[in-house]
Amino acid sequence: MKPYNKTKVLVTTAYMKTVRTLFIAALAMLAAACGTTNVVPITGRKTHLLVDDAQILGLSTQQYQEYMRSATLSSNQTNTALVKRVGQRLATAVETYLRNNGYASELQNFQWEFNLVSSNEVNAFCMPGGKIVVYEGILPVTQDEAGLAIVLGHEIAHSVAKHSAEQLSKQMRQQYASQIGGSILSRVAQAKGINSSTIALVDMLAQTGFNFANLKYSRDNETEADHLGLIFAAMAGYDPHLAIPFWQRMSQLGGSSKSEIFSDHPSDEKRIAALQNLMPEALKYYTPAAEPAPAAKPNTTKTTKTTKSTTTKTSTTKKTTTKTTKK
Ligand SMILES: [Zn+2]
Repeated sequence: MKPYNKTKVLVTTAYMKTVRTLFIAALAMLAAACGTTNVVPITGRKTHLLVDDAQILGLSTQQYQEYMRSATLSSNQTNTALVKRVGQRLATAVETYLRNNGYASELQNFQWEFNLVSSNEVNAFCMPGGKIVVYEGILPVTQDEAGLAIVLGHEIAHSVAKHSAEQLSKQMRQQYASQIGGSILSRVAQAKGINSSTIALVDMLAQTGFNFANLKYSRDNETEADHLGLIFAAMAGYDPHLAIPFWQRMSQLGGSSKSEIFSDHPSDEKRIAALQNLMPEALKYYTPAAEPAPAAKPNTTKTTKTTKSTTTKTSTTKKTTTKTTKK
């Protein structure tokens, strides 16, 4: 190797900026070369992602922790427990599906957390890795467990479909397109090495103001989240039909463009019609829960007592197949 010539390292701030810009572009180019194709479960849609799971989780976990430090958790224990219980039930069903359908390696990416945050906003959002935040303001609209399951299913779907990675990849491509500088980029990339890519990503996030907590997904992403979410709710034993009255209640609110759950969607009528069309597919995944979901009214009842049912649990999860030999 050639000895490093220090006399050539007389750099100005402007030069450093250029190098930094080129470096980010180089990262995008590198990533474009070594990106991966992701196949979204259920819809089978293919996307080309320029960031891997470890990078996404590293970056988003940081932002998630920052968000949680600034958020005020709900003081309502009953509602908090409800969000965690319904969320966990969905997560278990989703993980079972992924495990049994060729996505077992994806399970390591999820460490589910379901939070209820003190805010009147009608909203919920998710971050990569299964970090879900529900605002108290949406509970009067969800009304019962099934309504909440539709919201949580939608948010879980964003996470499972890797919509954050898709949006981040899109931004990286835009950076690449606007900053490409020819062959010099590959030299910069080679000099720095792929290991520095995470640092460059952090840089890019800071420059573009990319934030996982209030990320705006594409309309297609939102429609896909509705689709997957409906099926996830059905898998967890919630009647998917109940998505329709839930979205009707949401549409009566008029919608707020700020809210993730309303963001960049076709009109309410189209959204509801699309869900109606998906109903036959969702019903294929639907098996009513062994223990019927109580019609919890989150914001109207404040009972903290849980009445233990004395009825014997029927284990419907294990299907015993009786072998009859017929001729
Ligand atoms: Zn959404």
